Amino acid sequence: AQKRYASLRDLPAISLDGQEVALYMNAGLMADLPSLEGSGAQGVGLFRTELQFLIRNQMPKRDELATLYARVMDAAKGRPVAFRTLDIGSDKVLPYMKPNDEPNPAMGWRAIRVGLDKPGVLRMQLQALIRAAKGRPLTVMFPFVAEFSEFIEARSAMLRELHREKSLGHAIPATLEIGAMLETPSLAYAPQDFFAMTDFISIGGNDLKQFFFAADRENERVRKRYDTLNISFLSFLEAIVQRCAQTGTRLSFCGEDAGRPIEALALAAMGLRVLSMRPASIGPVKALLRRVDLGQARAVIDEARRAGEASARDRLTDWLAGLPQ
Ligand code: PEP
Ligand code: MG
Repeated sequence: AQKRYASLRDLPAISLDGQEVALYMNAGLMADLPSLEGSGAQGVGLFRTELQFLIRNQMPKRDELATLYARVMDAAKGRPVAFRTLDIGSDKVLPYMKPNDEPNPAMGWRAIRVGLDKPGVLRMQLQALIRAAKGRPLTVMFPFVAEFSEFIEARSAMLRELHREKSLGHAIPATLEIGAMLETPSLAYAPQDFFAMTDFISIGGNDLKQFFFAADRENERVRKRYDTLNISFLSFLEAIVQRCAQTGTRLSFCGEDAGRPIEALALAAMGLRVLSMRPASIGPVKALLRRVDLGQARAVIDEARRAGEASARDRLTDWLAGLPQ
């Protein structure tokens, strides 16, 4: 199978009915980067910057981070990299930060909430990204945005740092794209102005699903209540696809489901055209997308919906089993 995936490396993920899905990889450590070549990823759809903070025993310095981000961009050789700003709190606690004792950390003070309430670290990180990019395109996204106002504030912080760097006479990025991760259902119902303002949206399905179903992503006991192929969840994703289409907002999906072939198929059938996943999943996902008709997959999901079934999993699995290999 490895050999078969290698032979697909330079081929696009195009379905039998001619729909192309762009496949990107998720990364976070320098060790992930060599996979960019081998996997055939079109770029890095999610760079989890917190990993660099988690593997240290003290807060990294700005210049250290700038060097590191520049190396990531070097390794990407002009392919886009979406740097997600620090996503700490919840299950990710920095060993050198005072742990905050919260009853429910997943819904507590985490991600962009920390970045906006205590902006020192966020500003340092944004400066490091700007310095790393000098003269090259830069793509930044903010994690766990739940409201339009948070996005406005985070984006303003980015633009402030950009102006500051410029006024200091430093080189600035050739282009700058600022996006939001959609990880809470609330953001899907943000005002139209949000969709018009953001350069792109990336669905963080791991968190989005956990809040959609109120089922902890870490808890095995509620695993079956956390089904991506649940018709309600697929309908919700479709509503997001439609809202983005109205404003022409680029949309991608970067949770773990993007790397699970049957889940990835359902995401593509609901209209997602950019998926970002762990590099080893690109081959299997591409192999499946190339041998299906997405319109037919969509019709199978609609049959499950019309039949009042909770999930499209059984029907999609049966349909796939009946396809020629
Ligand atoms: C997600 O929530 O789907 C996501 C990509 O972010 P993380 O898994 O790092 O929370
Ligand atoms: Mg998340």
